[in-house]
Amino acid sequence: DVKQVGCVGVCNQVPMLEIHKAGEEPAFYTKIKANEVSEIIKNHFRSENWMSRFKNRFYNYAENLTFSDIPTSSNRYSANEEGTPIAEFLKGQVNVATEYRGEIKPSDFEEYKSKHGFEAFIKCLKELSPDEIIAQVEESGLKGRGGAGFPTFIKWNLVKNAKADQKYIICNGDEGDPGAFMDRMLLESYPFRVIEGILIAAYAVGASEGRLYIRAEYPLAVTRIKEGLEICKKEGLIGKNILGSDFSFDLKVFEGAGAFVCGEETALIASIEGKRGIPELRPPYPAEKGLWDKPTLINNTETLSMVPFIIRNGAESFKEIGTENSKGTKVFALAGKINRGGLIEVPMGITIRQIVEEIGGGIANGKKFKAVQIGGPSGGCIPAHMADTAIDFDSLKEVGAMMGSGGLIVLDESDCMVDIAHYFLSFTQEESCGRCTFCRIGTRRMLEILEKIKSGKGKLSDLDLLEQLAINTQKGSICGLGKTAPNPVLSTLKYFRHEYEAHIKGEC
Ligand code: SF4
Repeated sequence: DVKQVGCVGVCNQVPMLEIHKAGEEPAFYTKIKANEVSEIIKNHFRSENWMSRFKNRFYNYAENLTFSDIPTSSNRYSANEEGTPIAEFLKGQVNVATEYRGEIKPSDFEEYKSKHGFEAFIKCLKELSPDEIIAQVEESGLKGRGGAGFPTFIKWNLVKNAKADQKYIICNGDEGDPGAFMDRMLLESYPFRVIEGILIAAYAVGASEGRLYIRAEYPLAVTRIKEGLEICKKEGLIGKNILGSDFSFDLKVFEGAGAFVCGEETALIASIEGKRGIPELRPPYPAEKGLWDKPTLINNTETLSMVPFIIRNGAESFKEIGTENSKGTKVFALAGKINRGGLIEVPMGITIRQIVEEIGGGIANGKKFKAVQIGGPSGGCIPAHMADTAIDFDSLKEVGAMMGSGGLIVLDESDCMVDIAHYFLSFTQEESCGRCTFCRIGTRRMLEILEKIKSGKGKLSDLDLLEQLAINTQKGSICGLGKTAPNPVLSTLKYFRHEYEAHIKGEC
């Protein structure tokens, strides 16, 4: 059988081929080229008939890939072989949201079920009351993985206790940070797990309708989720009186048009309602007055993906991973000047150094590690000398960064931190919806100052002005985009002020 599986996370070694043959240890081939496939198969399976069948099927898939930049020879590894790039990359990772990574064909319902799929939802329907489910989520310590780290059970309780004839649930898959692809991978690789998480949350809070908000730039995610929804409807997991219970629920996909600000809850709701995606002042919070003015639960894709694991294995199994105040795992998109980039899921409390050196294999091309930009455009830059900082909600806040949704970009000695601050600020400036003066104009003025400094025309007094504008923009913006947009500037000013000064003095 030939099977295309979901994301294995080891982006630095793709395209990958894994061969399982009865009586043999599985073999991995990495960075393979299309013209090597027949030889690899021949080495494992001698039957010519079988081989031609495989070749036809594999080449159909292979045609969709771009092989232009793949190194000239493929590598073979045995499963569990110590010291290989795959083993080293996966060592230290814990799979909760990415459980069974690389094993499941994403849209194969039977295969998902065979790996405990929908057991958690069925347990909820048949054995647990909504209060008991929410108590489990509270006990697990799960916090929102979309950036803010708000305790998940509080949101669930608010929606559950709201009095209304109709309640909604929205899965926020509007991932727009540069360098981030966590939600994309979860939606593409684990469509049934995301759907199961939504079903559990909807049942717990009493929502009868839901939307999966996915950006249209993720066409494969949209396709896989739509396929998954169709299958779930046929299997009686979505619709009226699900599995003979009193619970009825309908779930649809909404394709976002790509505005970063629509990741903000109230802007996302406006966008679904057909209005311009502009954040609203809160309160009222969506839990009280959300989609079409009804109580609405909004959770991030990764948060919901963790729920089936918690219900199936018990809150303890999740709680025992991580730190005192940050339980469980976090999925990161590890990118930048690193030897082994990819999609990783690590226990909270792991240090930046462990991620960069052990999982990522250190800095590429023998260069020196300089900093990590964590949390995307809303996050901050943490310098290499603080690489022993633990990755959890509190520790990152203390050093002026934030978890964000999970972008982790590694920088080396050749990266200019003024350029980095400029890059992220231009992104948020462009994506500002324009409602608040400081976010609209303050970020523009900050960018102008940065451009002046970069071109060698800056003055030392510009740095104070830049800092003051950044602080005022944080204070004077109503949503997370404006409040966090200055973070890359403030953190680079704090840790790399000498680079700003070097530009001003004409030393670089
Ligand atoms: Fe719009 Fe920026 Fe204000 Fe948010 S902070 S509402 S993005 S102008």
